[in-house]
Amino acid sequence: MKSLKNKISESIASYTARTGTAPQRPGAVLFDMDGVLYNSMPFHARSWNLLFSEIGIDMPEQEVYLHEGRTGASTVTAIFERELHRQPTEDEIRRLYRRKTELFAGMGAVKVMTGARETVNICRRAGATTVIVTGSGQGTLLDRLDSDFDCAFPAPSQRITAYDVTHGKPDPEPYLKGIAKAGTSPWQSVGIDNAPLGVESSSRAGLFTIGVNTGPLPSGTLKAAGADLELDSMEECAEALGILLL
Ligand code: MG
Repeated sequence: MKSLKNKISESIASYTARTGTAPQRPGAVLFDMDGVLYNSMPFHARSWNLLFSEIGIDMPEQEVYLHEGRTGASTVTAIFERELHRQPTEDEIRRLYRRKTELFAGMGAVKVMTGARETVNICRRAGATTVIVTGSGQGTLLDRLDSDFDCAFPAPSQRITAYDVTHGKPDPEPYLKGIAKAGTSPWQSVGIDNAPLGVESSSRAGLFTIGVNTGPLPSGTLKAAGADLELDSMEECAEALGILLL
């Protein structure tokens, strides 16, 4: 087993080779929300699966992890094109996403991901700006951020959500808008995401990208999507940021 310090040194070398710029001491850390700060992905997977089964479409729960990071509208469109060979109407998108949100809210309270608070606290202790970059528009979680993370992500100055972007992940726009809010450059910023599309977005935006595999994806999936460093848990991420920032 490689030590975490070795993995970090290798990832810095690969970032420098990939971007032609050595990463500087991070001034901002950008966090995805679902599957990074909250252990919400099992509920999202179940609610998407139930939603589509209500209209006779089978969307396996595992597949939800591959769409993760897209906006709700984009997920509905992708499934409609594949299963029904047509685009959904705007009304269908609105109706289905509202129903999905209802199913999700009915599943009970989502827990903060183990290790997430420690990770955020390390960033704050190091004086790095913390920003949320999520494709979600789910009020049930966005409304809890201030109390769960001690106002580390004040709205709207330190948040990019589904409502702020034209092109969602895997487009680089969400992470680029995130660093614009933080007032840093890509090489002074770290992106943390658990989904292949989110990792791709952060990596294409030029950030030093940590992929944290908190779900059922095979090991190496996030590296293949562009992560400079792939980790297995937010506890390990806290340890890595301690090395990178403190
Ligand atoms: Mg996520």
